[in-house]
Amino acid sequence: MRRAGAIVAEVLARMREEWVVPGVTTADLNALADELIRKHNAIPSFKGYPPGAEYPFPASICASVNNELVHGIPGPRVLEEGDIVSIDVGAFLDGYHGDAAITLPVGKISPEAQRLLEATEGALYAGIAAARVGNRTGDISATIQEYAESRGYNVVREYTGHGIGRKMHEAPQVPNFGVHGKGVRLRRGMTVALEPMLLTGGKEVDVLDDHWTVVSRDGRLTAHFEHTIVITKNGAEILTRL
Ligand code: MG
Repeated sequence: MRRAGAIVAEVLARMREEWVVPGVTTADLNALADELIRKHNAIPSFKGYPPGAEYPFPASICASVNNELVHGIPGPRVLEEGDIVSIDVGAFLDGYHGDAAITLPVGKISPEAQRLLEATEGALYAGIAAARVGNRTGDISATIQEYAESRGYNVVREYTGHGIGRKMHEAPQVPNFGVHGKGVRLRRGMTVALEPMLLTGGKEVDVLDDHWTVVSRDGRLTAHFEHTIVITKNGAEILTRL
């Protein structure tokens, strides 16, 4: 899982450092990511997911712009100065998955957007800090919710973090809202993907006619950060660290 996580981290680092710029299309980003994942002899986890579905995800990354929260399908959309884009990447190598996401600024962005990115990344790291042996999933969930809501944001209800390993989505679910002391007890060696999704406006979301793209109902900005972690006796280790 470390090796799968490192590939995901490399893709996201390239996104941040060179690929996400004004004028690029989300389809361009998908092609670059797909090439890099396969160069490492890994398989993009998201392409064709879930197997056997009527509308499996058609691309190797999710690219979700502005009011798009998660699961955006890459395409001809050109990223413009001031946009924010969430890039979600999964890689499957030697029987294991890695899964992570970052929301990146496209050129110079508004102070409002910058604050949202900082709050969403901060919520992720607060959740990771709560991922300790003896805590429960509810401690992670409640920590993320408190971090976001105390800064004036909503957390999505319909989409959650998750166990990850031989399958991309395993038990337990780790929602971005919850109650301290509830849920599954965290044990050494558990691998989970934590993924706060924050909304500037209301918490209601819709899925577009493409069957995948999740947008805020009020059209306001959203952001998403994710890491795959393993719980150790000394706290959480991030397997998809950039
Ligand atoms: Mg995930």
